Amino acid sequence: TVFKFTNSFTNRDKTVGGLLAASGFDDQSCLSRYRTGLYRRNTPHRPSRHLVQRLRSHESLQKRCGPGTDPYQKAVEQLRFGQSSTIDQDCNYLVWISYRGLGNRILTVASAFLYSLLTNRVLLVDRGEDIDDLFCEPFPGTSWFLPLDFPLKDKLANFSITSEESYGNMIKNKVSVDKANYVYLHLDHAYNDNDKLFFCEEDQRTIQNARWLIIRSDVYFVPSLFLNSLFVDELNQLFPEKDMVFHHLGRYLFHPTNAVWGLITRYYDSYMAKADEKVGIQIRVFEAKLDPPLLDQIISCTQSEGLLPQTVSHEIKLPKTNPKTKAVLFTSLSMEYYEHIRSMYWEKPTSSGEIVSVFQPSYEGYQQSGNKDHDRKAWAEMYLLSLTDKLVTSSWSTFGYVAQGLGGLKPWIIVKPENQSMPYPHCRRDVSMDPCFHSPPNYDCKKKELTDTGNLVPHIRRCEDINWGVKIV
Ligand code: GDP
Repeated sequence: TVFKFTNSFTNRDKTVGGLLAASGFDDQSCLSRYRTGLYRRNTPHRPSRHLVQRLRSHESLQKRCGPGTDPYQKAVEQLRFGQSSTIDQDCNYLVWISYRGLGNRILTVASAFLYSLLTNRVLLVDRGEDIDDLFCEPFPGTSWFLPLDFPLKDKLANFSITSEESYGNMIKNKVSVDKANYVYLHLDHAYNDNDKLFFCEEDQRTIQNARWLIIRSDVYFVPSLFLNSLFVDELNQLFPEKDMVFHHLGRYLFHPTNAVWGLITRYYDSYMAKADEKVGIQIRVFEAKLDPPLLDQIISCTQSEGLLPQTVSHEIKLPKTNPKTKAVLFTSLSMEYYEHIRSMYWEKPTSSGEIVSVFQPSYEGYQQSGNKDHDRKAWAEMYLLSLTDKLVTSSWSTFGYVAQGLGGLKPWIIVKPENQSMPYPHCRRDVSMDPCFHSPPNYDCKKKELTDTGNLVPHIRRCEDINWGVKIV
């Protein structure tokens, strides 16, 4: 069908307040790009002018130095054979390796993109099994996908904490970055003290000399960039509202491909569009078995926080006027929780007279990252959760972080039960919408000693769901 923008849908909505380039894309090949505004509540958070300008200049860099260009060819030769004198000094690269579950991948692409924006590097994204099946190109007139004939393509899967090309091991073995054809950045949650030096000023100066950086990470490492004095001024200009980093970068970078957009829009139009209020509940099942306290916890949290109405055991008279409707979107690998709560609102009336409809798009049973159909559903569900008015998420889950960040929502987090006993409080309101960095370095680069990264500046605090993690508030 041919899509027509209505009169009330302005160019500003189409470009998400200027975040997206208004031209340079083929509209039909990525329908979601300019149509999210038809599904999202208007965000009160506008991107800063500086961010918009920097995104446009970064797009030019990606186009000028990206795959298929002369500078890219020369840089690839340098990667293969060492130094080349004719090289374009302004074209430096960051290659992101596809790694872990989809939520982790989305958060690390966003982190890598911010780092490439701060250091003027072209970001190239490894497709892994299915990244190009899930996301459209974010930069006009070029491709961010790592070319299939990239010289180190077959090595990407093998980089690890022991790779001698890692920055940490180069320090340990006293190898000079200037002499290396590339540097591997090991920013996995289980990294060592030398790898963690990536976050220090002095080391950043050194790393800047590498033409090629290759990064493997499974964590949202943005908060620690805010603690590096080389980046702080620029970050303050880019994000005057600090906890908006993922909110803006996520909306800028991640546009569902047409196949995923179909999953999103068909579901939204069928189950969510007409409801007066939409509540999202993300239940991340880390262990396969049903945890009885968790069900009680979900009911108790949602009802005591006023997200879902209480039920009563007697029939009540419905108000004459149209009763309020509430659409409750569950997402989970298992169906038990959703089934129970759906039955609860069928078997008993609500004290408020509200009509509650409960649904869940899929129950995949177990994590199957890298399986195309499975990942498409996971991406569609994160996106659908981000379209709700109120969101409940599970502790520790990057899946939930993506939904809250894209949606601009401060979620209620279900506190992780321990030893099968009900935790109290049952849930906590998050302090900001930005994701949690699960493994901050906790190192003071100046004093060269251990420190609590959550205690250095007021806008970086320990997370509500993982108390050794930190987040921007
Ligand atoms: P995290 O492990 O919770 O931090 O989130 P990730 O997204 O990184 O990895 C979990 C993966 O398990 C997802 O990407 C999906 O593949 C799968 N998964 C977990 N929860 C759900 C869910 O509610 N719906 C769907 N469709 N998949 C899920």
